[in-house]
Amino acid sequence: MRDILESCSLSSQVDRWYWDFNGDGEFMFKDVRNLLDEAVLPHDVDPTRWVKYIPIKINIFAWKVSLDRIPSKLNLLKRGVSMENNLCSVCHEDIEDTSHIIFKCEMASNIHQKICRWWQIDFYHMSSYAEWLSWFNDIRLPSKKKLMLEGVFYISWWQIWNFNNQILFGSSIPRRSTVFDDIVSRSFMYVSSRCKKNFSLTDWMSNPSAIAL
Ligand SMILES: [Zn+2]
Repeated sequence: MRDILESCSLSSQVDRWYWDFNGDGEFMFKDVRNLLDEAVLPHDVDPTRWVKYIPIKINIFAWKVSLDRIPSKLNLLKRGVSMENNLCSVCHEDIEDTSHIIFKCEMASNIHQKICRWWQIDFYHMSSYAEWLSWFNDIRLPSKKKLMLEGVFYISWWQIWNFNNQILFGSSIPRRSTVFDDIVSRSFMYVSSRCKKNFSLTDWMSNPSAIAL
């Protein structure tokens, strides 16, 4: 991977990036991001933070967030991939690093705020994974519920990251207003199928912390 990265350069063309591979073909910024994403394998995932209610791929993504190993623009720059700008694609106000995308960006903060309102817990503005973890550890909920809430946060990070990628690589601008609803419906689908108790989407939407487990 390092050899490939060192022998190639990322150039800008109009509003897209391409990776010029010895003139033989075009390598999109998207491909570089995917390659680096796949190059990080979960050999040392912390088993204490594994949420059984959500898919493995989302647990792995959350693990990468915790270690700052997602292929953010800043992490790509650190690996020698040059690009036209390193600003957040959502707000264009700050450098796109893991903490900004997942926690500090106004869009991410807004999603966290909505999750807190939905779960009826006090919102705290977090600016990093470490702050999120410290805040989350202090939340008082029965263990199963807390694990579900942790899963909801992991799903939200996954959705925020995908939203960011859709802005960069999608054929149309995604709608920000649907992200939270997607988190609610997706988390219901994952949690209800992996939980032994039956509950409805209405129960989940109205007050998940009140569901009898
Ligand atoms: Zn931003």
